[in-house]
Amino acid sequence: MTFEDLNLSEALISAVTEMGYENPTPIQEQTIPILLSGTKDYVGLAQTGTGKTAAFSLPLLDLIRDKDKYPQALILSPTRELCIQIQKEIVNFSKFKKGIESVAVYGGADIIKQIKDIKKGVQIVVATPGRLIDLASRKAIDLSKIDYIVLDEADEMLNMGFKDALDEILTYASNVKSTWLFSATMPSEVRRIAASYMTNPHEVTVGTKNAANVNIENIYYLTEHRNRMAALQRIIDHNPNIYGIVFCRTRMEAKDVAENLMTNGYNADALHGDLSQAQRDYVMKKFKSHNLSILVATDVAARGIDVDDITHVINYNLPDEIEVYTHRSGRTARAGKKGTSIIIMDPRDMRKLRPLEKIINQSFTQKEIPSAQEVCEIQLLNYAKTIKETEFSSQLEKFFPAFQAELEELSKEELIQKIAAINFERLLSYYKKDKDLNYAGKTNDKPDRRGDQARTSGGERFFITMGKKDGINVGELLQFIDKNTGVKGKEIGRIDLKDAFSFFEVEDKDAAKMIVDASSEGLYDGERKIKIEVAGAREGGGGSSSRNSGGFRGGNDRNRSGGGNRSRSGERDRPASSRSGGEGSRSSRFGGGSRSEATTTSSAPSRSDRGNRERRRR
Ligand code: AMP
Repeated sequence: MTFEDLNLSEALISAVTEMGYENPTPIQEQTIPILLSGTKDYVGLAQTGTGKTAAFSLPLLDLIRDKDKYPQALILSPTRELCIQIQKEIVNFSKFKKGIESVAVYGGADIIKQIKDIKKGVQIVVATPGRLIDLASRKAIDLSKIDYIVLDEADEMLNMGFKDALDEILTYASNVKSTWLFSATMPSEVRRIAASYMTNPHEVTVGTKNAANVNIENIYYLTEHRNRMAALQRIIDHNPNIYGIVFCRTRMEAKDVAENLMTNGYNADALHGDLSQAQRDYVMKKFKSHNLSILVATDVAARGIDVDDITHVINYNLPDEIEVYTHRSGRTARAGKKGTSIIIMDPRDMRKLRPLEKIINQSFTQKEIPSAQEVCEIQLLNYAKTIKETEFSSQLEKFFPAFQAELEELSKEELIQKIAAINFERLLSYYKKDKDLNYAGKTNDKPDRRGDQARTSGGERFFITMGKKDGINVGELLQFIDKNTGVKGKEIGRIDLKDAFSFFEVEDKDAAKMIVDASSEGLYDGERKIKIEVAGAREGGGGSSSRNSGGFRGGNDRNRSGGGNRSRSGERDRPASSRSGGEGSRSSRFGGGSRSEATTTSSAPSRSDRGNRERRRR
């Protein structure tokens, strides 16, 4: 099918052709003819990246009366970024259509200017729900004259707490000819909106219901909660050309993760709600222009990010509502490209995997967190590729004869060895210390809390002088802890019930402190005194590979000309002792171009990680 087959005006066909759209996407094929009728309510189940913006914008542009200079169509979308993006596309689509104007309005920007813009006679207003209500209450927009309402990413708007705002807008705009709703998922709240404000909506689903993009490879790495940061770094190091988003649950977490990455020399930055709009714009600009390789974001802040070539989405943890996974992963594999969506999986979240697979209608592949050796190999090869691809700059020509004379006595092999050694010394010595981060315990979809079945957790490990001989089971032990320390069973991780004593783990620091405090005052089971003490780490538990300021981060900077940011932060934060020698080390960081701030040693990488892992698997 072609755009000509869809009954769109010549002006629109010319515009999309000029934009490089050859054929309509499935949602466009199924939606445009219905919406062009102008009188039907409509529900479209589609992810971002399917072409849904054009699916509603094109018919809208043909339905709007260019002579009437007041808002006739309202497009509501969850975020400022998405509003801007939609309005931009509308401008592109209407290139050959005279007399149609649109504006994007959203919170956090000058409302007086927005009012003036609307009053200039725009016909299409793209708005966030909160700002729209503000504008309507100031009589900047007359909702009773609106003919078409589009609710874009309706599930997201509801997730973001715009339920009341949407109800208010839809109630006031009751004269509309048609309401079009787009949503990636169909939770009951979205259904309620459709049932309350729409009449027999025509429903279109693209692909399978809630289907994820087949171009996305969904994988997960299983690691203990406390090893997430180390695992994230390992994964990034294993993908030297990564251009990705790391999703975090909270602003605080996004801040921490970004800071940690930056301190360790990664080209990363944070995007979250605590930043001012100007700061957010700055981060987004860096990311869009590829001057930033890794964006660490909260779900809310990342909405509306419109970047087509994101290679990886990393879920630092699973979102609270697993449906949100679809939105996260939808940031990659856009516009027909391939992408990878990764979960750094806490073993306790394994039970959420199957329901998630059902939602996305795809299965996940478990992968092993790469070993130190694998990372080093990949980095080294990537470095070799970078050397091959690097062009000799004419600016260097005048220095070259002296430089070449200095190195003349070296054979080609020696030269290669030295280049590798200079650039990878820190990498290898750093990774020598790194442990196997793969979770070594057993997982069930439903981790069992009973008997000796160990639950999975990290954090503080306690010894308690109560065991099976006392006739207790896990439940009774949890009750005892709850009653005597105030720490609830849900805070307790792995439990090893032995005969005369037991061990249990508590991940949350505050909960662990409550236990320490309570036990210091003396605990009793009836007459008997019970002791709880902090125990040593479990054998084979795998410690957190704390590696403050290791300094090395090679190859993940896609900005070939400007590794400055990263190299500065890496340099600054690296302790002097870890540098391989004053100015020598500094210059080596520039030796291989901006991707090559990797460093090597001539010593062979440790193979112990690999060995350990394989032993454990057996
Ligand atoms: P959307 O789902 O609206 O966010 O669109 C995702 C991406 O696909 C955007 O970059 C659009 O410009 C692009 N796109 C939309 N429709 C088409 C089409 N028919 N052909 C090629 N690209 C398209």
